[in-house]
Amino acid sequence: MATPAPAARQALKDANARWPKRKKASDGIMGDVRHQKTKSDHNVGNAVDITHDPASGATGDEIARHALNDSRVTYVIWNKRINSRDGRGWRPYRGSNPHTHHCHISIRASARSDTRHWGWARGVTPPPPPPSRRPPPKTLPARNLKRGSKGPDVQKLQAALVKLGHMTQAQVNTGPGIFGPQTELALKKFQARHGVPSTGFYGPLTRAAFSKLGL
Ligand SMILES: [Zn+2]
Repeated sequence: MATPAPAARQALKDANARWPKRKKASDGIMGDVRHQKTKSDHNVGNAVDITHDPASGATGDEIARHALNDSRVTYVIWNKRINSRDGRGWRPYRGSNPHTHHCHISIRASARSDTRHWGWARGVTPPPPPPSRRPPPKTLPARNLKRGSKGPDVQKLQAALVKLGHMTQAQVNTGPGIFGPQTELALKKFQARHGVPSTGFYGPLTRAAFSKLGL
């Protein structure tokens, strides 16, 4: 017979201690009849739902942030998103229950008896939210380039100029990685188009103009 995981019971106990007046309408550990028809960690007591209660309890966001920081947790579902703690971050959750009234936390079977306090226990501040999206990788070189420069950095610059239509791949192919007159001319065109003095020198101003375009 399945029993509620002690870790799940601790989760609710910690929430009750921290927010004595919180609403519990959507709380739960063991699966109800509907859950039992599906493959749910609730059926074996290894999951806990904590009610989203911005007025007198915790928000689903806060609970989720703590849970995602806890090695007992396999995944969290909250507000139409699921996070499996595998580095992929939040992904859309398309189950029939959108999980907008509670945050669902699944607990590893091997950690079900681990009754350490959860992150939302009294006095523990929540971890900051992780950045929602990584900044796009900077593909353009950080060092200054000018006519006569050579190497992979020049190739990156040339690739960007091709991408933006200021020079052709055929022109690059005459001297890939070599900052020659064609690259210089293309860079001047780019500069003129983007409000940078048309010097043919690739420095901070030009770099900033490229990065505005996400390059
Ligand atoms: Zn649940």
